[in-house]
Amino acid sequence: MKLAMIGFGQAGGKIVDKFLEYDRNTDSGIVRSAVAVNTAKADLLGLEHIPEENRVLIGQARVKGHGVGADNELGAEIAEEDIDEVQGAIDNIPVHEVDAFLVVAGLGGGTGSGGSPVISKHLKRIYTEPVYGLGVLPGSDEGGIYTLNAARSFQTFVREVDNLMVFDNDAWRKTGESVEGGYDHINEEIVRRFGVLFGAGEVEAGDDIAESVVDSSEIINTLDGGGVSTVGYASEDVEVTSGGGGGLLSRFTGDDGGDDGLDTANTTNRITSLVRKAALGRLTLPCEIEGAERALLVMAGPPAHLNRKGIERGRKWLEEQTGSMEVRGGDYPTNSPKVAASILLAGVHNVPRIKELQQVAIEAQDNIDDIREQSDGNLQDLVEDDEDELDPLF
Ligand code: GDP
Repeated sequence: MKLAMIGFGQAGGKIVDKFLEYDRNTDSGIVRSAVAVNTAKADLLGLEHIPEENRVLIGQARVKGHGVGADNELGAEIAEEDIDEVQGAIDNIPVHEVDAFLVVAGLGGGTGSGGSPVISKHLKRIYTEPVYGLGVLPGSDEGGIYTLNAARSFQTFVREVDNLMVFDNDAWRKTGESVEGGYDHINEEIVRRFGVLFGAGEVEAGDDIAESVVDSSEIINTLDGGGVSTVGYASEDVEVTSGGGGGLLSRFTGDDGGDDGLDTANTTNRITSLVRKAALGRLTLPCEIEGAERALLVMAGPPAHLNRKGIERGRKWLEEQTGSMEVRGGDYPTNSPKVAASILLAGVHNVPRIKELQQVAIEAQDNIDDIREQSDGNLQDLVEDDEDELDPLF
């Protein structure tokens, strides 16, 4: 599907930048337009692929290009005040050519955390296209203020978008590596997972295979209904057979026993095992998959390595595991020497990580309130002399 991506704040901008790189490398055609919005000039300058005219610096009068320093209330205020400047960049997007908007932000900071719900609300008011969010949760070692920011932004962002897809930095940190050190590899993971998913709806299918290829309306219908979503992914390298039997049609002839040299039973088994791995392995937001309201299975890979039976089995298995009757499935023929299962689980409810995040956020909020309360008294104790013998100048 074709998306208009808006990266808010540093993480949002960097991730959208990576999506553009992915798009170019894989020729997947998912980013129709890319805009970056920030209160920090340096972050906008650091982007590589987003065109300069699509980089919007907001809040210059308030913070002079230096960012909001993890103050997400200020981030939200500035986004409101300067919404016309953001709209100026959005005006350049040929909206009739996009299937949806995707607003991307790290929820632990200030600009993206505060601004992304504001821009989402604005887009929903103006356009009829769906507005999705991609929100990144901070690592648990980032500290109370980031957790509090994320918990408050998460609540607001979910409310303002048609669906909030979540990626949890905490679950993706490599052992022994700080989250910061690992952002590059984390961003690649984000882009690969969501790229396969959105790319699936962009295949220009010939009539002969259109039946089983995922359509962008299937992605939209899976996300429709709101709530929170997570994505699972698993892949395996395969050999790409060249010549004769490797064309798009080979899969159909292959279904009955295979005259394309590939063993159908093997192909089917590989697909079903990848589906299990994707659903039961690390999700972008770890959660219980049972109870997910809707799901979409995308099998990507060389056509000769995909078959309908495997996808159908995988889809049925997902129905059993989630308990949902709304599980869609299809394929995404590519030339890459990999077969990959990408699973979008939409409307998940049983997410211990969110509950934990909220708990830590409440503690941080109480702590901040306590310190503020004590602060006035403490300052007075320091500044005033004990017997009140000194007078200030004025
Ligand atoms: P903002 O510029 O004020 O919106 O804040 P940032 O985007 O710099 O940071 C917000 C949060 O996003 C941080 O607390 C991190 O958890 C996360 N973050 C920052 N940079 C990246 C990045 O490149 N990738 C990912 N996945 N997360 C990031």
